[in-house]
Amino acid sequence: MSVKENLRQVRGSIPEGVELVAVSKFHPVEALQEAYDEGQRVFGESRANELVAKAKVMPVDVKWHFIGHLQTNKVRQILPYVSLVHSVDSEKLLRLIDSESVRAGKVTDVLLQLHVAKEETKFGFAPEELTELSATGIFSELTGVNVIGVMGMASNVDDENRIRDDFREIRRTFDSLGASAFDGKDDFRVVSMGMSHDWHIAVEEGGNMIRIGTSIFGEREY
Ligand SMILES: *Cc1c(COP(=O)(O)O)cnc(C)c1O
Repeated sequence: MSVKENLRQVRGSIPEGVELVAVSKFHPVEALQEAYDEGQRVFGESRANELVAKAKVMPVDVKWHFIGHLQTNKVRQILPYVSLVHSVDSEKLLRLIDSESVRAGKVTDVLLQLHVAKEETKFGFAPEELTELSATGIFSELTGVNVIGVMGMASNVDDENRIRDDFREIRRTFDSLGASAFDGKDDFRVVSMGMSHDWHIAVEEGGNMIRIGTSIFGEREY
């Protein structure tokens, strides 16, 4: 099936209120353009150079989301193009995006990446780390970053219960932050979880932003 058909099918099956990030990493701009022509505006990329290269040639109203591990030496490079960074996985990175944004005279929307899966990525905050960090008052202190939610991935396993537990933990952490550090902050509202193979479960467990690559663009060739 074509990108257009795939996109239509995915769109047709996601509930209202769930935002779709089309994960276009490793796919050529022609494929992105096809999705764009079908109305898609939010694209997810995981490498800084690739995001910048694509942003330079794609229409300017695309919203670029950075979803991969962000190296500190790439922050300045992507800031002019990125509309949301999903993958803030350390205090150091958070502070750097803040200072670079202030320097550029902008405020950058970010999500805090949680690490709940038992294996897979080593990146992200453990839920209790985030609770401790938020107690320091850092989130109200920083003026160059606007924390609008959390992002996470489930364990890469077949056991649906394990996956569901991971998504529940991400949602629970979001709710707990929303009732503490971000209490009363209306734009703290994004729970980014779910990929091609597990987004149904993520949405059932309270995810409201899903990151879909393969089901739209096909398999990636690394
Ligand atoms: C690649 C990637 C996705 C998309 O994965 P698919 O299985 O192709 O849908 C989602 N989230 C992150 C963080 C990714 O790196």
